[in-house]
Amino acid sequence: MRPLLVAIVSAGLFLAAARPAAAAPPPWYPPLRWLPAASANYTPGRAGAAIGTIVIHATEGRYAGTLSWFRDPRAGLSAHYVIRASDGEITQMVAEADTAFEARGFNRGAIGIEHEFDPNHGISYTDAEYRSSAALVCAITKRYGIPADRAHIRGHSELPGADHSDPGPTWNWSYYIGLVRGCAGSVATATATDVGETMCDGAGCVPAPGFGAGAIGTEVALLQWDLAYLGWMTRSGVLLGDGHFGTRTLASVRSFQAANGVPATGFYGPLTATALGRSLARTPSGAADAGLAFGVSSAEVMRLQRDLRELGYMDMVTGYFGPATRDAVRRFQLDHGIDPTGDYGPLTRAAMALDRR
Ligand SMILES: [Zn+2]
Repeated sequence: MRPLLVAIVSAGLFLAAARPAAAAPPPWYPPLRWLPAASANYTPGRAGAAIGTIVIHATEGRYAGTLSWFRDPRAGLSAHYVIRASDGEITQMVAEADTAFEARGFNRGAIGIEHEFDPNHGISYTDAEYRSSAALVCAITKRYGIPADRAHIRGHSELPGADHSDPGPTWNWSYYIGLVRGCAGSVATATATDVGETMCDGAGCVPAPGFGAGAIGTEVALLQWDLAYLGWMTRSGVLLGDGHFGTRTLASVRSFQAANGVPATGFYGPLTATALGRSLARTPSGAADAGLAFGVSSAEVMRLQRDLRELGYMDMVTGYFGPATRDAVRRFQLDHGIDPTGDYGPLTRAAMALDRR
């Protein structure tokens, strides 16, 4: 087995390795190959340091050779990611939670990205490489709330005391930073509808994080209803938005973030989701828990019926979710721009919470 693996490695091809669960990236990250660096080439954890800098490197050698070198325990070097020039393929070699050996003195708080660049063999930076790297860096900035600027996205050569010159004068910073800043919408629309799960508890429902300006769908609408409930959007603003993450939502998210100690990026990421859940827990609406549908009998159905009665949608409170309740829920949904399924789910609950105020 071992000689075969060595043969494959030396041919520049790599077998897909199983990624440990702790190293799994959030679902809105661009596609990544996982090929772990030798364990001697990084240290587990961050020793308490927060991730706050992204360091741009150049390989000054070929992609396959770089991967091989970081897999070699004699290297004493690594990076979290290596990007291929020809097509922008991204290989992850160190989990973001771990410390790569890439920039002496800065490793603890940094994520390092190597870009294939080998002018001696005719390999310059490519557009595929810039775009792929920008999508990755955008995702990283959203994940950790790192501002997408040159103070936080730095060249290896720019770090104080650096004795390296990468990425060098041919790296196009203005083009690259423009791509990083422009990516939020495309990240969001690619993933907003098929990512993660809405999280509900007694206080309310919080959409699955990982979207921003340009996203469309029920998770966006849920975010809007939650923000309206908490006073960061108006009811008419939600209805006008119609599930689109536009400028009104962006401004509301930023205000909410600023007031809750989250970097005001306007992107709805995990930090914002956590803050949203906390805010809802501090101001419980008393609306019935989500997840009620036709045929259910329960005390929660009774709470729902009381609310529907209060709002003028039905008369009888029976505790049974029958045709009258379903019709009342449908009318409520139609009045709130919600798909009239007749089931009482997270979105309907969030709209109900606002109306109960
Ligand atoms: Zn470097």
